[in-house]
Amino acid sequence: MIKRFFIKAEGIVQGVGFRPFVYNNAMEYSLKGWVNNNSQGVFIDAEGEEDNLYSFLNTIEKNPPPLSKVDAVSYKELEVNGFSTFTIRESEREEGRITLISPDVSTCSDCLNDIKDEKNRRYGYPFTNCTNCGPRFTIIKSIPYDRDKTTMGKFKMCPDCLDEYKDPTNRRFHAQPNACPDCGPHLFVIDKDGNKVKTGDNDSLAFTRDMLKQGKIFAVKGLGGFHLCCDAKNGDAIKELRNRKRREDKPFAVMVKDVSTLSEYCQINDIEKETLEGIRKPILILKRKSRFSLPEDLAPGQTTLGAMLPYTPLHYLLFKDGLDILVMTSANISSLPLEYDNDKAFESLKGIVDYFLFHDRDIHISIDDSVARYLHGKVRLIRRARGYVPDPYNFEIKEPILAIGPNMKNTFAINKEGYIFVSQFNGDLENLETINHYKRNIKHLSSIFSFTPKYIAVDYHPNYESTKYGEELSDNPVKIYHHHAHIVSCMVENGIDENVIGISFDGTGYGADGKIWGSEFLICGRKNFDRAAHLEYIPLQGGDRSVIEPCRMAISYIMNSLPDDEAYEKVKQLYGKKGSALLTIIKNRINCSDNCSMGRLFDAAASLIGIRDIINYEGQAAIELEAKIKPGISELYPYKIEGDVIKAADIIKGILRDRENLVDIGIISAKFHNTIIDIVLKVSCLLREKQGINKAALSGGVFQNAYLLSNCIDKLEEAGFEVFTQSLFPSNDGGIALGQIVTASLLINSK
Ligand code: ZN
Ligand code: ZN
Ligand code: FE
Repeated sequence: MIKRFFIKAEGIVQGVGFRPFVYNNAMEYSLKGWVNNNSQGVFIDAEGEEDNLYSFLNTIEKNPPPLSKVDAVSYKELEVNGFSTFTIRESEREEGRITLISPDVSTCSDCLNDIKDEKNRRYGYPFTNCTNCGPRFTIIKSIPYDRDKTTMGKFKMCPDCLDEYKDPTNRRFHAQPNACPDCGPHLFVIDKDGNKVKTGDNDSLAFTRDMLKQGKIFAVKGLGGFHLCCDAKNGDAIKELRNRKRREDKPFAVMVKDVSTLSEYCQINDIEKETLEGIRKPILILKRKSRFSLPEDLAPGQTTLGAMLPYTPLHYLLFKDGLDILVMTSANISSLPLEYDNDKAFESLKGIVDYFLFHDRDIHISIDDSVARYLHGKVRLIRRARGYVPDPYNFEIKEPILAIGPNMKNTFAINKEGYIFVSQFNGDLENLETINHYKRNIKHLSSIFSFTPKYIAVDYHPNYESTKYGEELSDNPVKIYHHHAHIVSCMVENGIDENVIGISFDGTGYGADGKIWGSEFLICGRKNFDRAAHLEYIPLQGGDRSVIEPCRMAISYIMNSLPDDEAYEKVKQLYGKKGSALLTIIKNRINCSDNCSMGRLFDAAASLIGIRDIINYEGQAAIELEAKIKPGISELYPYKIEGDVIKAADIIKGILRDRENLVDIGIISAKFHNTIIDIVLKVSCLLREKQGINKAALSGGVFQNAYLLSNCIDKLEEAGFEVFTQSLFPSNDGGIALGQIVTASLLINSK
C-alpha cells in the first residue's frame, strides 16, 4: 500500500552528507518526494510502499552517514500527494539557530580506496576527503560552514571537483574541503636551514620515507598540528629525538600501519581494536606484550604503549617501503601549545628536527590527539580533543554560561540550544603562550556557536589563571569547588541526579577551608556537597616543587608518622643530609601548606619504596608505582579512621618496615594499592550506613590508575554499591568544566 511519511531527523545532520544519503536510499526503496535541511534538522517528504518506508526509516535511524549523529527521528503520516520523482532541495538557513559542526575524523574507506587505485585521479593524493571524512573543526574560521569561510577558501575547485560538489548522488556533494591534485593543497619538504629540498606530493613523500628509514627526524604537519616523527624501530633516532627535545623519559606515542602490526607489540582486545580502527582514531594506551621488541627509550619504565592508527591520507602514505611503526609525538616545546603554523613551527622546531614535511592547507584551530585507555569494560578518554570535539553533549541549561575550567589540562564549556559543548584540551595554563591559546579557543568556540555568556563559572582557586580570566570577564563569577566539579562531571555523564557518595582522588584542588584537598569523600548532589571524609592534612613544603620532588612529600609523611628521633634517623638513612635539612624546614613549617591530596600520598609511597624521588613529567611517580605492582597479592597495610579523618601513618610505617626487610618492591606497591582500595570500600560502607546512599561516583586524576579503578569498582560492586565512573569525559581535570557548568546553572537558578 502506498503511504506518505513526513520525516524529521535531528542531530549532527548538516555538512555530513545526509541529503545524498537520503537521496540514494530513497532510490533504493523506490520512494518519491523530496529532502532538505536547515539547522533544526533534515526534513524528508517521502511516498512509497509502506514496507519500504519503514525500511527507509530504519536505515536513517540505524545506519546514518558516519559523521552524522542522529539524536531523534520522528515522522507523521500525510495524505498521499502523488510525487513523480525524488529531489534534493536547497538547504535553508535560519537566523539565530546554531549549526552543529562535526569533529575532524579519519579518512573513510572509500577515500582510502581512491588513493590506492592507480586509475583514480586521486591516486596517492594526501588531501583526499569527502563528506564522510576529513578536516572540519580545524579548518573552520567562521560560520556558516562554507568553503570560503574555511582555510580551503584559497583553493578554487577545478571543474571535476566542482561537478562532484554539485552532484547530490556523489559522496563529495557539498564536501567543503573537497580537493584533488589539480586544485588542492600540496606537500613540500624544507630542511632545518630553511631550504626547500622537495616539492610535489609523491617526491616529498618518497623523500620523507627514505630519510625516516635512515634515522632522520621530521616535523610532519597533520590535521590538527605538527608531530615529531622518526622510525620507532630505530633506537638511535629515538635517543637523538630525546636529546634534542630534552625530554628525558616522558613516553612517546607511536603511529602504526595497522592493528595486525601493532598486535606484535601490544595486547589488543576486541573493543580496543574497534576503537583503534574507528573513525575517531585516538591514541590508545595499550598493555605491552611481555616480549616487547621496540626500543625501551620509547616509553621508559612503562608497561604500556600509546598507539594510534593513521588518520589522514598523508599518514597512510607514509607507511610504505618497509616503514610500519613511527614515533608520532606532539610537536611542541615542552609545556607550550602544539605547533600548527608553518612559519612558527619552523622557528621553534628547527633545532629539533632534520626536516619539515609541510603542506599549504592552513590549520585554523589546532587540536591535540585524543588519548584513551580501555579499563574495566570501557574505553575511557584521558584527553578529549581531535575526533571528539566539538561533539555536543545533550543537556538542557537555560542561561548561557561559560565554565572557564581548571588550570591544568584545561578544557572549558559553553551551552546552547540544549547542548553543552566541552572544548578541546588546552594544556596547562602555566605560560603566556598557553593562556593566549586558551583565550583564543574560547573566542573561537563561542563564535562558531554564536555564543555570548551571561554568567561565568570559575574554580574557587584564586590563583588559577582560568579563574583570573573568569574574573576579568565577570565582576561576579559563579564559584565552584574543584572536587565537587569532578564528581558532578561523573554524575552528569551517568545521568545521576540524586545524592551520591562522591569519591574524588586527585593531585590538587582548592577546598572550602582554603586548604588543598584531593582525597575527598563527598556526600554530593549536583548543586551542593558535604565533605564526609578525607586524608589527614600533611605539610606540603615548597609549593609546586614538592609535586616535582616526591621525596619532599615522603619526608613530610615520615615526620607525621614517626617520633622525632626515629624520623630524623629514617630520613637521613633514605635521603641523606639534604633530607635531614628538609625535615627541619618542614618541622618549622617554613613555606608549608596543608594538603590532603591522594596524588601526593601516591608520590610519597613511590619515593619511600625507592622508585622515584624526582619526576620529569606529571604523574610519573604514580605511574611507575602502578607499573611495579606484583599481581596476585591480597595483603594490605593497616590504617586508622578517626572521625572524618583517614590516617596514613600506619601505612607509611608498614612501607618503611617492608623496605627495611627487603620485601620485593612489587609486593610493597601491591600492598599500598590494596590499602587505598580498602579505604575506599570501608569509608563508603560507613557512609552508606550513616546516609543510606548506595550510589558511589568515582572521579579525579588518581583514578586513571588501572589497578586502583578496576579494584575499587569490583570491591564496591561486590559490596552492593552502584558504581559510576567516567568514560566520555576525562576523570582528570579535563572533565572539570562539565561539572562546573552544570553546578553553576543550578546555583544561578536558586539565587
Ligand atoms: Zn572519505
Ligand atoms: Zn580538483
Ligand atoms: Fe582535579
